[in-house]
Amino acid sequence: MAKKQFKTESKRMLDLMINSIYTNQEIFLRELISNASDAIDKLYFKSLTDESVGLSREDFKIDISIDKEHRLLKISDNGIGMTEEELDKNLGTIAKSGSLQFSKENETDGHDVDIIGQFGVGFYAAFMVADRVEVVSKAYGTDAAFCWASNGLDGYTVTPAEKETVGTDITLHLKPSTEEADYDKYLETYTISALVKKYSDYIRFPIQMDMEHSRPKEGGEEGEYETYTEHETVNSMVPLWKKNKSEITEEEYNKFYNEKFFSYDKPLRVIHQKAEGTSCYQALLYIPEKADYNYYSKNFEKGLALYCSGVKIMDKCADLLPDCFSFVKGVVDSEDLSLNISREMLQQDRQLKIIARALEKKIKKELEEMLTNDREAYEKFWKSFGLQLKYALYSSFGGERDLLENLLLFTRASDSKLCTLKEYRDAMPEAQKYIYYAAGESAEKLAHLPQAETVLDKGYDLLCLTDDVDEFLMQILHAYDKKEFRSISGGDLGLETEEEKKEIEEKAEQNKDLFACMGEALDGKVSAVVLSSKLKSHPVCLSSKGAVSIEMEKVLDSMPNAENAPKAEKVLEINGEHPVFAALTKAFAAGDTDKVKQYADLLYNQARLIEGLSVEDPVAFSNAVCALMQ
Ligand code: ADP
Ligand code: MG
Repeated sequence: MAKKQFKTESKRMLDLMINSIYTNQEIFLRELISNASDAIDKLYFKSLTDESVGLSREDFKIDISIDKEHRLLKISDNGIGMTEEELDKNLGTIAKSGSLQFSKENETDGHDVDIIGQFGVGFYAAFMVADRVEVVSKAYGTDAAFCWASNGLDGYTVTPAEKETVGTDITLHLKPSTEEADYDKYLETYTISALVKKYSDYIRFPIQMDMEHSRPKEGGEEGEYETYTEHETVNSMVPLWKKNKSEITEEEYNKFYNEKFFSYDKPLRVIHQKAEGTSCYQALLYIPEKADYNYYSKNFEKGLALYCSGVKIMDKCADLLPDCFSFVKGVVDSEDLSLNISREMLQQDRQLKIIARALEKKIKKELEEMLTNDREAYEKFWKSFGLQLKYALYSSFGGERDLLENLLLFTRASDSKLCTLKEYRDAMPEAQKYIYYAAGESAEKLAHLPQAETVLDKGYDLLCLTDDVDEFLMQILHAYDKKEFRSISGGDLGLETEEEKKEIEEKAEQNKDLFACMGEALDGKVSAVVLSSKLKSHPVCLSSKGAVSIEMEKVLDSMPNAENAPKAEKVLEINGEHPVFAALTKAFAAGDTDKVKQYADLLYNQARLIEGLSVEDPVAFSNAVCALMQ
């Protein structure tokens, strides 16, 4: 009987499978079971309207049997079956496979097929573990059975066969084990049952096999056991997310979270959603309390497990989660997606996009709810993932503002507690023009900055920014509810009245030669020396002009390739009401410019210290202080 050739496309797929040294070979079982389940679905559907099918819901099942001696693994279903023609057509040509598409587009060869596990790869996956595959099938509504058989690339045959009942038996002749690959394990009941649990637990029809157990031997001696086999259903058939919320306990939710995602914390929130309408899906999502050890590293992979009608397609579908919520763990199950879908197709998949958008909204709502009603939990969340929200907001250039703005927390200086922008805004006195912030190492230090004093004394609060990304974020956000953000180390803080402003301007004008003289002494270090309107009891501070602040300069300097990083344009601000200023004017009036220059240098270095910058020449600084004391 003549051998038939595979179609060209199928050959490539087959080749990919046969030569695969892919470590996840085990997914072959998932593929065959998913096909069996599809076939049963089809016949079950028919049985609803056609009595002559003669089977009811409970009769449908998938059977797995192992013949160790002959190295055979058999998967049987009583689904719709295939006719002679269908065997030829369906198994001779694999219509469209996600993996094939992917490997074609990315020019991967058979050895670089990490993609295999990510998609439904279909029937040919059997050739990853078997060197011969036989498919005996009897189609519903026919009398004759046929056998499709193939040893791989050189083609296949379809011949008449014996089979009593409608359905399909697929027999795999397992490859001999080699040093690189162990195929023997697929002859072990526990391996197979574990694989069923791992990948196909939620298939809605029973998957049964002979399981070995032991029991105390009847009539035997104490401690004497015998083994016995029982034909058992291995899969649980109903996934947690398909159950009703009311049937699920908190323990069950948490156990699933711990087992499925290898997480040891207790989730802060569980989101269990069943959506119907434009898209049908179930989602079971968790907001963790703690970040994974690698969460803030490059190795971290975001994504939700994606199931299609109870069959797992991907462990981590990244497209389902926006970056800002990458900490969310969970499962999405939808009937609307096709199993054989490539990564590229997935990205463009309309259904997937709709689901992703809906989930994003849902997560946001949950976080807002937590923020409002369970502040303690939210602050725990913030401690773990606040940085991610800020990064995401920053890297979207504020594009995610609507999504994230109201989820941000900052430490406020007045009481060192965390507050939202809205809380800050709501507490602002009428006269306060700006939302003030200071950036630096710690909230305590920031609250004690010389510039902070005037702000706080006016009854205004101050946001203390202590993460590197914070100030960059503030620049991007620019304002909240029409109130601009202002760094207290920046220029004008808008604190003084028109009158006070005028006074300062006059005083500055009167002393402009003094400032010019000091500026000369600090040439190249500061762009100007000015009379300050921000200082109360402290003599000096450093502020900055332009886009780069002093804190930002520190951050930029700490990054790789920092040589060309932009620098802050520093301004030395002097308190005109401070005795030190009197000393300066006195020396200047006496014509002692050397002294003025020395004072300028000292004040400049003091200001650097206050800002957390190092003194440029510590020895010279120390000597100058000593000289003053003598
Ligand atoms: P897919 O399942 O995505 O269609 P597969 O490569 O897994 O692709 O299977 C190819 C086709 O072979 C299926 O579409 C189906 O028509 C047929 N087929 C495979 N296994 C069975 C089975 N157990 N019973 C009936 N038909 C099957
Ligand atoms: Mg399939």
